Parts: sequence; C-alpha cells; structure tokens
Amino acid sequence: MSNYFTDEYTFLSEFKSRLERRYIIELKDASIRQKYHVLGEMVSEVIAKNWLETNLELHDIDHKEVYYFSMEFLMGRLITNNIMNLGLRDTIEKAFAMEDLDLNAIEHYESDAGLGNGGLGRLAACFLDSIASMGYPGFGNGIRYRYGLFEQKIEDGYQVEKPDDWLKEGYVWEVRKEEEAVLIPFGGYVSFEDGNAVYYPDEQIHAVPYDVPVVGNHNGMVTSLRLWNAEPTDKRPPHLNAFEYDTEIRRISGFLYPDDATREGKVLRIKQQYFFSAAGVQNIVRKHMAKYNDLSTLPDKIVIQINDTHPSLVIAELMRLLVDDYHIDWEQAWTITTNTCAYTNHTILAEALEKWPVDIFEPVLPRIYQIIEEINRRFCKGLLDSNYPQETVTKLAIIADGVVKMAHLAIVGSFSVNGVAALHTDILKNIEMRDFNTLYPEKFNNKTNGITHRRWLLHSNPELSAILDMVSDNWVYDPMELQKLVKKATTKKYRALIKKMKLAKKKALAERIYDEQGIELDPSSIFDIQVKRLHEYKRQLMNALHIMYVYNKLKSDADFKANYVPHSFIFGAKAASGYYFAKKVIKLINTIAHKVNQDPDTNELLKVVFVENYNVTYAESIMPACDLSEQISTASKEASGTGNMKFMMNGAITIGTLDGANVEIAELVGEDNIVLFGLTSDEVNSRYENGGYQPLDVYHNHVDLRLVIDQLTNGFFEDVDKEEFREISDRLLQQDHYFVLEDFESYRQAHERANELYKDEEAWFKASIINIAKSGYFSSDRTIRQYAEEIWNIEPLK
Ligand SMILES: *Cc1c(COP(=O)(O)O)cnc(C)c1O
Repeated sequence: MSNYFTDEYTFLSEFKSRLERRYIIELKDASIRQKYHVLGEMVSEVIAKNWLETNLELHDIDHKEVYYFSMEFLMGRLITNNIMNLGLRDTIEKAFAMEDLDLNAIEHYESDAGLGNGGLGRLAACFLDSIASMGYPGFGNGIRYRYGLFEQKIEDGYQVEKPDDWLKEGYVWEVRKEEEAVLIPFGGYVSFEDGNAVYYPDEQIHAVPYDVPVVGNHNGMVTSLRLWNAEPTDKRPPHLNAFEYDTEIRRISGFLYPDDATREGKVLRIKQQYFFSAAGVQNIVRKHMAKYNDLSTLPDKIVIQINDTHPSLVIAELMRLLVDDYHIDWEQAWTITTNTCAYTNHTILAEALEKWPVDIFEPVLPRIYQIIEEINRRFCKGLLDSNYPQETVTKLAIIADGVVKMAHLAIVGSFSVNGVAALHTDILKNIEMRDFNTLYPEKFNNKTNGITHRRWLLHSNPELSAILDMVSDNWVYDPMELQKLVKKATTKKYRALIKKMKLAKKKALAERIYDEQGIELDPSSIFDIQVKRLHEYKRQLMNALHIMYVYNKLKSDADFKANYVPHSFIFGAKAASGYYFAKKVIKLINTIAHKVNQDPDTNELLKVVFVENYNVTYAESIMPACDLSEQISTASKEASGTGNMKFMMNGAITIGTLDGANVEIAELVGEDNIVLFGLTSDEVNSRYENGGYQPLDVYHNHVDLRLVIDQLTNGFFEDVDKEEFREISDRLLQQDHYFVLEDFESYRQAHERANELYKDEEAWFKASIINIAKSGYFSSDRTIRQYAEEIWNIEPLK
C-alpha cells in the first residue's frame, strides 16, 4: 500500500487525482463533502496498514487482552484525532496552504459519532484512546446505532429533538466484517434432553460487526471498536411478513435510548443489551478457541470489563456457551466466568439501577433467564449455608420480588467491582452495596475516571499546548509532567501567557455563539459555564435561580452592581426526551436569557446563553473557553463527573460541591484554588435518613431567594404564561429532593468569592495555572494504567 503523505506534493497530486476519478471534478470545483470523503479515504488507507499489522501481531503473540463492553461510545469526530495521532497534519496543512484550502472546514464536515448520552459514553471513548495510545491490547464492543443521540434544536425556548442521521452518507472509518457475523437467538423454549438443556429459539438475528479503528498516538498501534449491527436472517417468525420482520430486527440497532438514568421500551432495551453482549461474547469465545482450543484458559487471556450494568448479560451468556455448547460442568464454567468478568458501577441513583421484571425478561431470553435463576439459586444457597439471615439473602438475591437485579448479577458474576471516584467508591462500599462489600471485600476497588488529554488539551487547545511545551518536552506522553507548571504559577510571564490563551479561546467561542445564535458575549467577561446532561441532581436549576438573583440585585442594589464583574453564563445540555421536568428547566433558562439579555440596565454586566446541541465537538471549543466551571451536583449524586476534569485541564477554576471527582480536584489543587460550597455527602445522606428537610423554612427566611421563587409564577417573565414554571416552584417548595434551596445561600456566597477572586488577576491566574498543573492526574492514561495493572493484569505491546 502506498503512502501518499510522504510530502505535500505527493499528497496533493494524489488528492486531486482521486477527486477527478471518484467525483469527476477538479479540485477548484469540488465541494467540502467531496474533499472530506477523499481525505477520509486517504487517511483510512494509512490506518489500514497499521491496523493490519497490529492485528497480525496480536494474532501471533501469546498475550492477554481486554474487551471493554459498553452500550455507549460517545466518540465525537475521528478525523482530527486520526490525522493528529498518525502525524499527518503537517503534510496536509502544507498542501492545503498551497491551494488555499482550509483543513478545519473539511474536518468540520464529519458528523459526531454520537453513540452515547453523556459522561458514561464519553468515558468509554477516552478509555479506547488511552488503550491504543499506550499500546495495550484492548477492544471496544458496542452497538452500531443507526441513529445516535438526538440532535437538539431550541424553538421558542423549548427543546426539540431531531433524529441524528449520522450514517446517511456512510462512515469512512468503519469496515464491515460480514464474515464474522454471529447469530443471536431470542424467544422460544428450552427442553431438557439427556440432562442437557436444548434451546429452541423463535428467531435468530444476525449480528454483523463493523470495526472502527482506534488509532494510537504516534505508536503505530491501531485497535478496534467493534460495533454490532442487527440484520435479518432467513429464520423469520411466522406471524411477520418479510418487511415487518426486517423493520423489527433493524430496530435492535436502530437507536440509542436518549436517557442515561431511566429507561423505557423494556423489551427492546433488553434485546439491545443481550444483542451486543452475546455477540461480543460469542466473538471472544470463537477467537479464543481458534487460538488456544481450551476454554479453561479463558481468564488467562481475556478480561471483559462491563461498563455499568447494561452489558451484564455477558455473565449469563458466557455461562450458556460454556455449559450448553461446550458441555463444561457448572462449577468450572462459573470459575471461568467469574475470573473473566469485571464490573464498573456508575451510579447510586436508585432509579438508574436496572431491574427487569421477570414476566418481561423471561419470554425474551428463556435460556438466559434459567441460567440467571441457577446462578441466583446457588448464590442464595451459599449465603444460607453460611448462616446469613433470610432477610439479608432476600436483599442480596439476583432475582427477588419479580425482578432481575442487573447490578447484583454483575457483582456476583465478576471478580472486580469498581466505583469511578474515591467518594463514589466509599459510598458504594459503606452505604449502597454495604452487604456485598462485607461479603466480597476483595472485589471492591476504586478507579477514578479520567479524560484523554490528547483530545481535551493537545487537540482542542493548541494555544495552551504551546505554552506547556515551554515547560516540558514530554507532557504529551507523561501528563504528570504538567506539575512542572506549578512553579510558573508565581511568574508574571506565565500568568500573562495563560491570560492571553484564555482570551483567545473565549473570543473563538463567542464568535461561534454569535454566528449560530446571534447572541453577543464580551470575551473579557467571566465565562461561567455549565455543560452536561440536564438532570435534577446536576442542579442547572440552582444555577438558573442564582442568575435571577443576580439580575434582581443588579437592578436594585447599586453597591452590588458596582462590585460585579461582567459575567456570561453559558449552558449546554440535552434533556432526555421523556424527562418533562428537565425540559422545563431548559425553557426556564431560555426565558431568563431572553429577558436579561435585552435589558439595557444590566446587559453589559450579565448575559445568558443556552447553546444548542451540546455534543463532543462543541465541548472541544467550550472547555478551553471557560473561566469558572460549574460542578454543582447535590453531594453524593455525581459518581465522578469528567466534564469537571476537562475544564480543569484547560485552566478553569471549579465552583463546586464536594461530590464525585471534585473531592479529588480539591485535594490536588488545595482550597485556595477551587471554590467549594454546599452540603457534604454525609450531610445529604443524614438528611435523607431523617426524612429530608423543610424547603418552606428556607423560603420564608431568605428574602432574596423568596423573591426569585415568587418570580417563577408572578408574571415576572412577560413572554410566558404565569403557570409555565408552576411545577418548578411547586417541586422546590414541596420536596426539593436535591436541596436546591438548602444549598442556595452557600452557593450565592461561593459566587461572591469567585467574583472577588477574579478581580485579583494575580490570584486568579495563579489558581488557573495550579489547576492545569495538577490535572495530569486526571488523564485517562493514569486511569487505564490502573485498570491494566490492578484489574485486568494486561501489559502493553512492545
Ligand atoms: C465530558 C462530556 C460529558 C460529561 O460531562 P459531566 O459534566 O461529567 O456530566 C457529557 N457530554 C459530553 C458531550 C462530554 O464531552
């Protein structure tokens, strides 16, 4: 295979010639789309060579590898990453400069692979990047959704969801591997013949893999993300015609559920989960048998990381294959399975812990259900034999009260159970999963999340990268080197450099916002940003109420106004399509924005923007442009957060609660370099234990807050019906499960401290530099090394 990237002339001549051959067009007349496709193809060919070499090497050597099973991979755009990691950027840019072409514009043509909702899916994407870049043998396993996370429009202040038709022009990076398709059975019945279970499914579905390359950074390594596509077979159930059958099947890989905390469409969701879990496991077992012809060695060669409970059916499917197809006795099969699987917990929100009603689950997966029953029977018997009281056994059972508890299956069937930040793991061990931790103390461990500094710093913030190059020549390979910046925090020179970088990134974001939404932001104002999924526990509502408070003060209190540094409050968030309350909060933020942005009394000092369609690519320009990062979840609710890390790495200062990884950020940077407020996790939990609190007391005792709450329903917002926000005010006053009112005063004071800190330019940029310097810990390279060494027991290739 030829490499056309040796120099700009070779590249350009091939680029032109391909446009002519493929699109019958000359470069000067070619569209962005045509140029994008030709460039993508040429880059893919370079990848292909490394990819084949990586695969051949992995095939030949004896080694252990990890499979990261996740229902979501929020990959974003690949073109920039691929060009950067292969070191092709220089050549392309030089060539394009000769023809006056803009590489950025061409890159922007690629749509995000939005196969995820938020943090959980983005974590999986960052992990793949670290795995490949550090040379670990590891693969992703997921679903090739025909439609990813919806595209968000804002119309009249409301969220409107448009389908994300990301595959409409094909996807240059993927490779269909039809030869490796597997069959996935559903429905039907099981009969016992000569003591063996024989499963007669109603229907079989083809799972066809599409491999997406994961390109390591300058190391020649290319691993794969395998995404399974559901396709029909000849075995069609009699009650459906061919068209109905085809439609039905394709729904299984049809769309991503637009929610990461609740669920709907139970049967389809169970089918999706089993579909990609079973396909992945079959693929692994087949490969392992071809190479080693002995399944007892599976745990020595393979580890499956289960990302949240969505893929926990791998445990039952592996048992099914070992026991039914390979006739391995139950005990040995169980040893193999539990030594192969490891589980990551992502949430303690009760509504997000998956439980499937037996009457729905069993008919869809009859054999899998039997296997889970048997796992449960043996597990409960073991507990009773060790004299655990019946009450505890019922509490820990995998099947109880007519539901299958996926988290319990995952814990019982795995050798490792990890939380995603120190505080989260503590809560798991001591509160949520306390009994399991007593039972299996050796299983529980922490792996604090991370983010790939290559995408979130090197690629999205070249200006900052250039400054870091002055301090270390190896920070890209060893992000802990960023610590060297600590001693620069006291130098005027570096503070000035960081200030300049920040201003440039804020200008760039302001321009994008102006172009897309027509709202003008002052780049010298504080960019105070909260971008993340919209959820009550994340408390965008508290932020919105505080902005209303600020607006009221600016209108009524001259001292306050004189002291106030201009602020631009920026929000970005998608709300799950069925999450009514979250959508109301979006409407509220937009209503506030509409009112305050137009008020000439205040709009030099206060602007509010809700950016449309927040996604990975948008995040790449938002993170570097932030001064103050809003990480304000109710303590104990945010397992880790990763947005907090992206902001920190780009020099933002966090205003936040002691929740998730904020706790570790605070420990690293010290109290002077973060703005903390609010109830602690222990305080929150003790309030829950004592029956909550009285939001009405807060309302009556806090004059300024009372005014804000009243304004929700007293006609203050002229453009909307007085009742528009009634539910918001009712929920705050009646239950306020997330302590918005309780934490408000402390949050208000925190904002005042941030305002004062910003005025002290020296202190502010010193804090900013310390944040960047300490952010190396949050590189996903560190996280992946810990998984590799402490859970997976795998080693990088040479
Ligand atoms: C990082 C990221 C998230 C996660 O943000 P949190 O603040 O940790 O919830 C969500 N969505 C996108 C697009 C991201 O890049």
